[in-house]
Amino acid sequence: MAKIEMKTPLVEMDGDEMTRVIWKMIKDKLLLPYIDLKTEYYDLGLVKRNETNDQITIDSANATKKYGVAVKCATITPNAQRMTEYNLKEMWKSPNGTIRAILDGTVFRAPILVKGINPLIPTWTSPITIARHAYGDIYKNSEMKVKDGSKAELVVTDKDGNETRQLIHEFSGSDGIIQGVHNINESIASFARSCFNFALDTKQDIWFSTKDTISKKYDHTFKDIFADIFETEYKSKFENAGIEYFYTLIDDAVARVVRSKGGYIWACKNYDGDVMSDMVATAFGSLGMMTSVLVSPTGVYEYEAAHGTVTRHYYKHLKGEETSTNSVATIFAWTGALRKRGELDKLPELSAFADKLEKATVRTIEEGIMTGDLYVLSTLENKKKVNTEQFLDEINERLKQTV
Ligand code: NAP
Ligand code: MG
Repeated sequence: MAKIEMKTPLVEMDGDEMTRVIWKMIKDKLLLPYIDLKTEYYDLGLVKRNETNDQITIDSANATKKYGVAVKCATITPNAQRMTEYNLKEMWKSPNGTIRAILDGTVFRAPILVKGINPLIPTWTSPITIARHAYGDIYKNSEMKVKDGSKAELVVTDKDGNETRQLIHEFSGSDGIIQGVHNINESIASFARSCFNFALDTKQDIWFSTKDTISKKYDHTFKDIFADIFETEYKSKFENAGIEYFYTLIDDAVARVVRSKGGYIWACKNYDGDVMSDMVATAFGSLGMMTSVLVSPTGVYEYEAAHGTVTRHYYKHLKGEETSTNSVATIFAWTGALRKRGELDKLPELSAFADKLEKATVRTIEEGIMTGDLYVLSTLENKKKVNTEQFLDEINERLKQTV
């Protein structure tokens, strides 16, 4: 059988620990036998990041800008313990943070649904994709504890030195706390464009929610920027695609989400997205079944699994013990990237291969063969727990039948 040819290379970002082990297995077993795989390889493993003073991460992000599509393995974000474990020169920043800053992107997280792993909310029959604005608000705040008898004000000094003051609170009778947060219109606009592009790309409605009735300047600015960009740049595209942009208050959105069937994108401000993505992920099942894609406002895509490097499993693996690590989200990172590359390069057979690999993966689990994390959740009667490698072999058995 002839292998599927590629035109433009994918930017391949390798990573750390158990996911690095899985990465190689996926390539060897499920991709290289079928595709004449072209990638531009960047090793974002912590050893290489340390060796290159993290330049490799920057290079990989710039390559993604150049080629348009990347696939990334999970990577360690160093902390104090990793400094000694890897003998690091510096506590390098999160690669995801660095890449996101260069691409100015928004992260979309979506669950993979399979029969037998039932969402805790039974009406959720289609995925709910969460888009989180990853700039500002309380994540870049300035806050203080305030003594009784103090007066707190917001002070803004413009470029000519003029001051505008606004009272926050006069503390009388009790000590208290204050907080200053900010956002920038440019970042909100990028967020809006990434959301609208991704909605068009995946043919799903998009919901956006803030608390603009209470926060009449801050949250209302988010609402206005989204509305303006939608009206001027996206309205007719949405009409042609038969999808909708729907704005509502955050509390109304929560109530509607719980009652919904799923099948839409929910765009959230930074904090709402932080909280709601964990809620939605938990309700859909396992972290091993959650995909993640970073989309830039100019239409550059970086696909990955939402989970980390699965350290606990890796240490077992190093000791020679058997592991049963779920590779589904990492497989779907590859299929997402290959399908997108196929679309951009007009290679329908590459996109079709991505579909087949996803179907073979889902079929394996629905036929009762799964890793330990799913085994404890699955309601199937004849289920069987397999190890990391067996699971990929089982997928390949089914994939072979379809290609
Ligand atoms: P994690 O790697 O996501 O794993 C947390 C736990 O969730 C695991 O111990 C495992 O539970 C379960 N789990 C996650 N993915 C799984 C999978 N594919 N199959 C089976 N079980 C899975 O998070 P972490 O342990 O907090 O972080 C580990 C490292 O990953 C850290 O160095 C962190 O910096 C990094 N990280 C990277 C990214 C990224 O690159 N995008 C994201 C998050 C974290 P059991 O142990 O109970 O089996
Ligand atoms: Mg969170």
